[in-house]
Amino acid sequence: MSDCCSVNANTEAAPAVMTCPVNGARSKQVDMLTVKSLVRQLPLGMPNTQYYFCDSSDCAVVYFALDAEAPRFRREDLVARVGAKETEDPIPICYCFGFTRQDIWDEIRSTGKSTVA
Ligand SMILES: [Zn+2]
Repeated sequence: MSDCCSVNANTEAAPAVMTCPVNGARSKQVDMLTVKSLVRQLPLGMPNTQYYFCDSSDCAVVYFALDAEAPRFRREDLVARVGAKETEDPIPICYCFGFTRQDIWDEIRSTGKSTVA
């Protein structure tokens, strides 16, 4: 193996799944880039640690870190609503682009197809 991947060495050791510190749900890894692009106001000096995504709809925490000292992010800290956290329409299907299920239904109803995909 070459060491071309060593830039990620500090996160590769992180477990693939962590339990949410709030409700104990199994939570998968999420890219720091995703966290940074979805959190409304990043705290100063974000630690370079592995983040995890708790997708339980009854849990306020969305992102938490492997490092317990690192800030946790809750629903209200994010710029977009997280689909798995919402139980009523409009549920964002792809929150990267702001499409919701309602948008797609509206498009299918008016044009007979969806161009979202
Ligand atoms: Zn949770």
